[in-house]
Amino acid sequence: MIVRARRVVLPDGERPAAVHVTGGRITAVTGFDDVTGGDEVTTLADDEVLLPGLVDSHVHVNEPGRTEWEGFASATRAAAAGGITTVVDMPLNSIPPTTTLDGLAAKRSVAAGQVSVDVAFWGGAVPGNTGELRPMLDAGVVGFKCFLLDSGVPEFPPLDDAGLREVLTELAAVDGLLIAHCEDEATIEAAPDPDGRSYAGFLASRPPAAEETAIARLLAAAADTGARVHVVHLADAGALPLLRRARADGVRVTVETCPHYLTFAADEVPDGDTAYKCCPPIREAAHREALWQALADGDVDLVVSDHSPCTPELKRLDVGDFGLAWGGIAGLQVTLPAVWTGARARGLGLGRVVELMSAAPAALAGLPAKGGIAVGKDADLVAFAPDAVATVGRLEHRNPVTPYTGRELTGVVRRVWLRGGPVDGAPRGRLLDRGA
Ligand SMILES: [Zn+2]
Repeated sequence: MIVRARRVVLPDGERPAAVHVTGGRITAVTGFDDVTGGDEVTTLADDEVLLPGLVDSHVHVNEPGRTEWEGFASATRAAAAGGITTVVDMPLNSIPPTTTLDGLAAKRSVAAGQVSVDVAFWGGAVPGNTGELRPMLDAGVVGFKCFLLDSGVPEFPPLDDAGLREVLTELAAVDGLLIAHCEDEATIEAAPDPDGRSYAGFLASRPPAAEETAIARLLAAAADTGARVHVVHLADAGALPLLRRARADGVRVTVETCPHYLTFAADEVPDGDTAYKCCPPIREAAHREALWQALADGDVDLVVSDHSPCTPELKRLDVGDFGLAWGGIAGLQVTLPAVWTGARARGLGLGRVVELMSAAPAALAGLPAKGGIAVGKDADLVAFAPDAVATVGRLEHRNPVTPYTGRELTGVVRRVWLRGGPVDGAPRGRLLDRGA
């Protein structure tokens, strides 16, 4: 079959093209008119652009164990509806966490047969599981996540500096990747406690210095061990010079930010609206604008959702207390329109957005068949209407709480193909291993 469009976002730019697919793989990318009478051709509408399926390397599915927060069926349905054809599941908030081979097996067996898009897995690095890391890598995890402060769940404790170095030494030997939640416990303890319904009070409780201190700890350990590291969900633009300097010094570090840090700003968050609570917090507009500049300049490598849902009860919307509420923003389904809305307003092109949301996360996770429209890759494709406008209503993920509700966003996902087949709610997704 062939999918063609007047605008196709290819790795080397945008042009009219026909994407030829056999057995779920892209076999040729030709001129728009290079089709023959016998081909089964789908031609996109004039207002649609053909994009590669997005890769979201930061999704908390929470199944098994906290499936009432989010499960594989609902999370991957939401992903598919949003043009995300590959998700990489985070190792914590499920029970068991993915910190052992057995935990990975539990994840895989519960995910199998119920995913609408392809799914890969992060392992977790916690105190005492260094011996599990290589077996989990061999079993297909794409790398490991760690926390540098309390994660919020007791079964996923943080690494101290000695533990961090032990893990990085182990991973450096096999070129494994460690991704880290970078906030510093001591800095947060020294800051004021969150103050009930006040968003300013919550923001003050997790200052930028907490991110900068933890990032500096990670960079120092990476420099000493030579390991590859990645900073998840950067909210603090003040950390960018640190990261730039480390890269200039040869430290192997990449960094992501998330749609909520690019869309919202602290002074727009209503007091008591804990749908906006996440850690690190949504900061002032100056951080948001500096993060956009960093995306344009290449100082931030990728944008992924950090879809981190919980039950509405745990969000404590009844009392609106930012200290009591679970931290995490849900909404992977609107990642693309949210980022595109902001990108367009700032003159950042669709090609750069696709790099940030498809090619770069696929490269981070080591999934060479994903992340672009190119010969040999999986035919994961999205028909996207970049000028269409829609208001965010009920989303497909399990618990509907999200700060995006009611927001008008530009860009609508019209159709999605996974390995050449239409995404229609059937569980056609596969479980992926690193390197697949
Ligand atoms: Zn997360």
